[in-house]
Amino acid sequence: MGRCTVKIRCLCCNRPGLHMARGLIVSCYARHQRAGTLDQYPLSEPDGSPWRPTGRIGTGTLNRYIAMEVRGFSPARIRFELGLSSRQVNRYAKAAREQRLAAAG
Ligand SMILES: [Zn+2]
Repeated sequence: MGRCTVKIRCLCCNRPGLHMARGLIVSCYARHQRAGTLDQYPLSEPDGSPWRPTGRIGTGTLNRYIAMEVRGFSPARIRFELGLSSRQVNRYAKAAREQRLAAAG
């Protein structure tokens, strides 16, 4: 992250600009970082698209995450069971939510 070469529309203000991270343009990222509000914006790929697991292991982990979530496991428990870092578990939580939304239409 941090190479500002991809043009996006900013998630917070819809203005075009160079992508910094989390779907935000450089000036907005700096503003949210100062304000401590970066958590409102999901981690994203360098091109601004939402993070998704790639490959068999990542997809398998996402499927296990979803299966455990459906059974009512807390994020802390899922994190422990799957051996994820807190940052990873947040990514899987968001990917799982997006998959649910996509499935719901
Ligand atoms: Zn913005």
